[in-house]
Formats: sequence, C-alpha cells, structure tokens
Amino acid sequence: MPRVPGRRERLQNIPVDGPKKVLLAAPRGYCAGVDRAVVAVEKALERYGAPVYVRKQIVHNIHVVTELEKMGAIFVEEVDEVPSGAHVVFSAHGVSPAVVNAAADRELHAIDATCPLVTKVHREAVRFARDDYQILLIGHEGHEEVEGTAGEAPDHVTIVNSPDEADTIEVADPNKVVWLSQTTLSVDETMETVRRLRERFPNLQDPPSDDICYATQNRQVAIKKVAKDADLVIVVGSANSSNSVRLVEVALEYGAKAAYRVDYVDEVKQEWLDGVKTVGVTSGASVPEILVQEVLAELAGAGYADVEEVRTAEEDLMFSLPKELRQDASGRRDERALGGRRD
Ligand code: SF4
Repeated sequence: MPRVPGRRERLQNIPVDGPKKVLLAAPRGYCAGVDRAVVAVEKALERYGAPVYVRKQIVHNIHVVTELEKMGAIFVEEVDEVPSGAHVVFSAHGVSPAVVNAAADRELHAIDATCPLVTKVHREAVRFARDDYQILLIGHEGHEEVEGTAGEAPDHVTIVNSPDEADTIEVADPNKVVWLSQTTLSVDETMETVRRLRERFPNLQDPPSDDICYATQNRQVAIKKVAKDADLVIVVGSANSSNSVRLVEVALEYGAKAAYRVDYVDEVKQEWLDGVKTVGVTSGASVPEILVQEVLAELAGAGYADVEEVRTAEEDLMFSLPKELRQDASGRRDERALGGRRD
C-alpha cells in the first residue's frame, strides 16, 4: 500500500466545550526487537549491496517496509523466491526449522533477525516437546510468529486462538499440558484463556517466564491509563501488526469513547474529532516515532497543541545485532546495542 502523498484537506480547528488536549502514551513505538531487525536489513544492504531479500515483512509496518524497499530490499513470501546463493533476512517474527532448512538447501546466506524474545519461546517449545508435553500455544493461527513457534514441535503444538476455544480443545493427557503464547497478545485476554484452560486442566503447567513481551505489556499498560480519560484514541500502526490492533481493543475496553488505528496521519478523519476534548495517542512496537510526530503536528493545527505525556514505564532493554552481522568485511566487530529509540 503506497503512502498517500499529503492530506488533501487539513483537519479543522472546530471549537468544543472546554480546552483541547492530547495525552501521549509512553512507552510507545519501536521496541528493541524491531529496532534490531530493521538495522539488520540496513546493515546487510550496506555490507552486501542491493538486493538483499527479506522473507515476509521484516516488521509489520508498511512505512518501514516501503523505506527499506527504496534502499534495495526485496520482500518475498517464501525462500524459494530467492535466487540461489543470495542473502536473505528472516523477519523479527521468527521462522520454523523447515524454513531454515529450505534456505540451506538453496544455499542462501541467511541472516536471522528473529527477536530474541521470540527465540526464547521457540526454545521453550523445543524443551517441552522433548519432555513429551502437549503445548497449548495461545495465539492467532496464520500469524508468522505462531507458524514459526509451532514449526519447532509440530506434533506437540495445539493452537488456541481465543478464550472460547479454551472451552473446546481436546488434549491427549490432561496431566501433561503446558501453555505458551505469542509475544504480542492482549495480556488480559491471554490470562482469561489460561484461566479457562486451567478450569478444564488443573495440572496445566505455566511457561518458565511470561511469553508476552515487555514491549507489548508496557504499551498496553500505558494506553489503559490514557484511555480512561480519552474521548478518542488514535493508534499509529499497521493492520497486520498484532500489537497495534490489540492497542485499539485495549483502549476501547479501558474507557476510550472511540479508538482507531491509522498507518499515516492522512487517515485521521475530521468527524472523529467531533466534540472531542481529549485525544489519546500511541503507536505499536513496529512504528517509527516520525509517524506519531506527524499525527501530533496535525492535531496541533486542529487545536490540540497541549500535549501531556503519560508515562508508565522506562525501557532500557537492548539487543546486539544478529550474529551474522556483528563482524564487518575487515573483521571489525560491530558491538552496537539496539534499543527501541530510533525514529
Ligand atoms: S514486540 Fe516484543 S517480541 Fe516482537 S519484536 Fe518487539 S520486543 Fe520482540
């Protein structure tokens, strides 16, 4: 989807009954795993030259993908579309062993940009499968991350899409079941699914640590605090970004009178602002801050220039580059540590 080149009509500054303001959620935007994946593609292009192939969207954001395409990245659905011997980057959402093997068969030079927090869930799946557990993987069937994790232990994984499915799924041995989850789900909905699973299977084992990642949790906590005071919440993020879509749902659940997701400022509609005094703004974990700043600038022109940040956590997690990129052609090490603070 190409970017709409500029808004045709600016948002109007229409008076409302009281002062207008913006509550800006923090943390928002880029997480450490997204930062690392995007830099991995940039660095691969720098080192090997264009084109560099990327299996699936490197992160679920149309703006990021479009910018990397301009630099020479080619996005493909599967590795069989990549010419033999070329460089291919695996996305932040991770891949199953079958994809790794298919890439090796084609003699591709693979660069694995899987987020380390997704890799952690893969390892848990492998370990529980080895111990012969049935793994109830809470997540959205068809999402790349779920496919990658399930692919680590296809004979042991049963996907649970929703709390309602928890009431109907069948297990082979109720004393040998564990739950794991996708990293970008709604915390509340996941806990409801686990509660309903445990009602049926009291010996359900918990994962060793939370699978829903710090970035997903922090963004949900921040928007919950904003939502209760917001007439409208705008979430910047793409339609295929699970954590962005969850932010809209959480905002509505926690008291926002309305909530919408936009890729770009151009999509904000004048009628959303009818009678609105307080606008909450946030963004998903794959969204560059520049897109949020564009929304804030447009809102300022419509009278919402008073911006108050609502911060519920500080984030300082950092990841190093994928191992394939830590050394340059001359053998010099790139020890860059990547957090979530890039524009
Ligand atoms: S949202 Fe979480 S799991 Fe996904 S890339 Fe970011 S830190 Fe990693």
